[in-house]
Amino acid sequence: MFGAVVVGIGTAGLVRIRDMLAPLPASPAEKLAVKGFISRRNLDTQQGVCQISMEEAVSREDINVAFICTENDFHEDHVRTFLQAGKHVCVEYPMTMNHKAAVELWDLAKEKGVILHEEHIELLTEDYKELKRQVQGKTLQDGTLHFTGGSLKPGFGFPSFSGIARLTWLVELFGELSVTAATMEDNSANGYSKMTAKLQTSENRSLTWIEERGPGLPRAKDINFRFDSCTLTQIPPAPRGAVGLFMQDLIYFSAKLAGQVHPKELQREKDRILHCLELADRIKQLCQS
Ligand code: NAD
Repeated sequence: MFGAVVVGIGTAGLVRIRDMLAPLPASPAEKLAVKGFISRRNLDTQQGVCQISMEEAVSREDINVAFICTENDFHEDHVRTFLQAGKHVCVEYPMTMNHKAAVELWDLAKEKGVILHEEHIELLTEDYKELKRQVQGKTLQDGTLHFTGGSLKPGFGFPSFSGIARLTWLVELFGELSVTAATMEDNSANGYSKMTAKLQTSENRSLTWIEERGPGLPRAKDINFRFDSCTLTQIPPAPRGAVGLFMQDLIYFSAKLAGQVHPKELQREKDRILHCLELADRIKQLCQS
């Protein structure tokens, strides 16, 4: 069994506790047992789980795993603290707010011989899986992914990092990318921002990623992918899967803990995560220059 602590009791943290208390039967997630949670607030027990201090969590021998579910700005420090203490870490995306720090954390995980896992539930959705099926085998001419959503609360960082799920989709669909230009429209007074990044595939096909947020904007993803044979203008609707997205991620993370994920797959995932963070860094740089 792996004893776990959850850091950050927001939407994601509460789901992590719920899922560990009722894991999918006969899945590797049954090997996780939640031992406590950490919060900046003084909270009552949550779903029967008690609050503990950071000091207690890092020093307890029956706690081997930490789930980092705070705002993005705090991820790096928490991940480092737990890796340093020799604990496995599952961190909600994005792992860090720059590429260099992520490289350091992976190195630290390797040195300590523990698993470092970054959650990417966007890759587990049925919509994405269907889109991936439809894109497979087609040759891209050019494309756009335009995300809209409500204003972000403080602590979630620059849009190329808070929106890394969209970038991850593009990289998983079209392979390694490079950044050719990026601009940012920012009206912080009314919570509106629009980031536009121009990307290029290894075959020099152009992709545009727009991340637009503002009060009242609906959460939506519009696509326009032009292929040699057809154009995709809609994310194919697909029925929800039987297992929740965070539960699927929990099962995958537990499989890593149990040594059931092939090292090649672990390496592929690490390369993709670092590549996306490198792109996010470059986009931020170009927007700010
Ligand atoms: P959230 O705003 O619900 O919680 C974020 C942080 O705010 C937590 O640390 C929580 O302890 C704190 N918090 C919540 N309510 C508070 C209050 N009343 N007073 C003081 N602090 C409070 O955000 P979230 O959706 O849980 O996101 C956490 C992480 O999970 C982020 O990195 C996010 O990118 C990631 N994530 C979330 C989802 C999702 O569906 N919610 C999906 C994928 C990734």
